[in-house]
Amino acid sequence: MATETKCPHCGEWTPSSGQLRDRCTHCGELLNKARLAQSLEKAAINKKISEESPFVVRKDDSLAKRFFKRSTLVFIAIVMFLVFLSLMTHA
Ligand SMILES: [Zn+2]
Repeated sequence: MATETKCPHCGEWTPSSGQLRDRCTHCGELLNKARLAQSLEKAAINKKISEESPFVVRKDDSLAKRFFKRSTLVFIAIVMFLVFLSLMTHA
């Protein structure tokens, strides 16, 4: 659905579909420059988190690294289960 948006740069009304990459038909500037920057920043942060997480298995990880990451998760699950069991039996 196309609506009209007032361009923050030239002040003219221009059709907008609500997309982040909509441009003003008069001056060619991005209508949602701030929102676009925000969403790009968010995407970059999410990417960084998933790249730095020790538990996320990536395509370019070596076999040993993948095995280590998977076994770490299994180890944590076992420890949590043991903690849960000891809490249940000692309560
Ligand atoms: Zn404009």
